[in-house]
Parts: sequence; C-alpha cells; structure tokens
Amino acid sequence: MNSLVATSRNFRQAARILGLDSKLEKSLLIPFREIKVECSIPRDDGSLASFVGFRVQHDNARGPMKGGIRYHPEVELDEVNALAQLMTWKTAVVDIPYGGAKGGIGCSPRDLSKSELERLTRVFTQKIHDLIGTHTDVPAPDMGTNAQTMAWILDEYSKFHGHSPAVVTGKPIDLGGSLGREAATGRGVVFATDALLGEYGKSIQGLTFAIQGFGNVGSWAAKLIHESGGKIVAIGDVSGTIRNRNGLDIHQLLKHKAEGGLLKDFTGGDAMDPDELLVHECDVLIPCALGGVLHRENAASVKAKYIIEAANHPTDPEADEILSKKGVVVLPDIYANAGGVTVSYFEWVQNIQGFMWHEEKVNLELQRYMKTAFRNIKDMCISHGCNLRMGAFTLGVSRVARATLLRGWEA
Ligand code: GLU
Repeated sequence: MNSLVATSRNFRQAARILGLDSKLEKSLLIPFREIKVECSIPRDDGSLASFVGFRVQHDNARGPMKGGIRYHPEVELDEVNALAQLMTWKTAVVDIPYGGAKGGIGCSPRDLSKSELERLTRVFTQKIHDLIGTHTDVPAPDMGTNAQTMAWILDEYSKFHGHSPAVVTGKPIDLGGSLGREAATGRGVVFATDALLGEYGKSIQGLTFAIQGFGNVGSWAAKLIHESGGKIVAIGDVSGTIRNRNGLDIHQLLKHKAEGGLLKDFTGGDAMDPDELLVHECDVLIPCALGGVLHRENAASVKAKYIIEAANHPTDPEADEILSKKGVVVLPDIYANAGGVTVSYFEWVQNIQGFMWHEEKVNLELQRYMKTAFRNIKDMCISHGCNLRMGAFTLGVSRVARATLLRGWEA
C-alpha cells in the first residue's frame, strides 16, 4: 500500500477515535507546504547529472517543523509527504516543541563520490535556504545522509544567513552537534523496548532478537541490546543476512564492519535468505530499514511476539490487522524511533543556549522523555480501548489538534 495512504489511514482512524471535527481533520492532514526543486550538478567526469529534491513541511502548530533529509532512489513526493506527516505526530508523541517535516533527494548516494554529494547537498540547500531556519524548519540526517551532510547544509545556509548552528541537527560535534546524537535513535529504540517488555514482566536479558538493518539505527540498537544481555539470533543489511542460534557477537561484528568487511562475510554467523529474517524464530523483531516491509504476504508468518518499529512505517495497515489477530504486539514507529528527533531537540536547545551538555545528561533526559511518552501512550490506550499504534496516534494527533485550536483560525 502507498505509504501516504497508509499513514493517512492511521491518522483518520485516530481522528475518529478522538471525535475530531471533520474540518479540523482535513486541515491537519493537508501539508503546510510542499517544495520540489531541480538539483543539477557536474559529475566528477564533467558530465551533467540532474536530481529532484523535496522538502515537505507538514505542520507547525506546536513549533518549528522538524525532520530528516533522505538520500535514496525511492524518494518521491508521496513518500516524503507520509514521512513528514509521521514527524508531526512523532514530535507530539514525545512532547517536544516542534511540528513535522521531511525532505530528500531521489539519488543513490553509494553511486556518488564525496565531492558529488557535497555539490548536490549545496545545490539543494541553495534552493531551499529561504524556507528553512532555526525557528521555521530544522533538517537532520535520515537514510543516506549523516553528520557530514548536515555540516555542508550548515555551511551553505550560513553563506546566506550568517552562522546559524541550530538550523540543522545531527551535526558533527565540532560544529555544535550533541554528544549522544549519533546513538540516539538506536538508544531510544532500546529504551522503548525496555518500557514495552516491562509491561509484560519481561526484560531484554535472555530474549531473542531479529534485526533488519545494520546502519546507524540498527547497529546502535544491536550493540545496546547485546550489552543488555539480549541474544541477537539474526541480522541483515543490504549486503546479506546472517544468523546464529546462540546469539551473534555484535562487538565482533562491529569490529568486522569497521575494518571494511561486509556483514554477509562475518564468520560468526551463517548466511540466510534475507526474506526469512522477518519471519525468523525470535521473541522480538526490530525492522530498522525501509518502510512497508511487513505486508499481507508475510505478516501471517511472523514468529516474533513483539515488533519494535525502529524504521518509519515498516508495517502496512493490512499487516497490522493480521498481526493484531495473531496477538503480536507492535510498538509503533512514531514512538519507537523518536529517540533521534528527541536528541535533535536537545542539540537545538544546546545551540540556542550556547552551552554543551554531558553525554550522561543527554542519555538520562532521553530516557526520561521515552518513559514519559510510553506512559502517556498507555493512558490513551486505556481511555480509548485501543492498541499501541492508535494510543500513539491519538496522543500525537490530540496534542497537535489542541495547539491548532488554541492558535485559532482568524486570518
Ligand atoms: N530522521 C530522523 C527521524 O525520522 C530524525 C529527525 C530529526 O532529528 O529531526 O525521526
């Protein structure tokens, strides 16, 4: 199912549960602004390459719009729209003073050299610099981008507007990035997993995990789960998928990757079919890669009892229904992966304050925000008799709706 249709369907269901006025519902759904720009750059060989860049600013009732910039071949307007909308609910779920946005460029970053990526990022920034800003819209890294990408955006933006460190988050530490930001999404996933398992009298220690993705989010989540005594029995990335029924040694795997090895060549596990990962025998399944990976074809075969959505919209609504009938508990993306944007908020606050926090403070505050959000979601589940996805959506949507109504309609 198209990701925008799926996300909007969850929103509409939440609006119905909350009894939102239909005009308010419509206004919350329509994005504030959609930006689509042509980005042409000379390749290293002198030839011309053209790409399309997007920034969708979904809502700003609660504060500046916030969300990542993705470099991936599948980036197109509907997908960016869906992700921008998810950011609006996500920032509201963890109660940070932001709205939602998302951007991206349809490109394959692996096929571009570092200087081509720099040129592309600078051209994109030139095209959108008037529409982003510390108090309007604050980009961050997402799939295919990183701290270096943010450094280029900051530098290009500052040529037009003067030095403005808080215009992007997820920056290198040397340029005003926050300690703990790189690990934050993965760490937040682990805090969220802890909160969920605690509800069932369980903990990470001794449970088995299957993880799809070993990029920034997957590798940090895997490391922290491994260190908490969880057994990671299967893990995969674009290079392939491996398993070890006694648990993979994640520290060794990280070392192997740091030395330039591919995940699929790691000798501490056996190769397996990547499609099998999502239906592998385990207690907890954590998709940390692309959206839409759990659908009506594979949902019935899922063996995990808990799914933690570290990726954005990994489960399509048809799969959601199948999983719910099977009694699988799904912890939704707009809560489970909110650790990244929460620490982005801390980074922004530090930049505005001009004061850098210790890493312990960052991690403690992150834990506090994740714990509070989980309690708030559970309260919504109890008041509305709904599952965790609708608990999170009703929490996020009700907060944005309240802010919108308080601001009023007068033109
Ligand atoms: N790209 C991340 C997300 O999808 C982080 C966004 C941010 O820090 O603004 O939540």
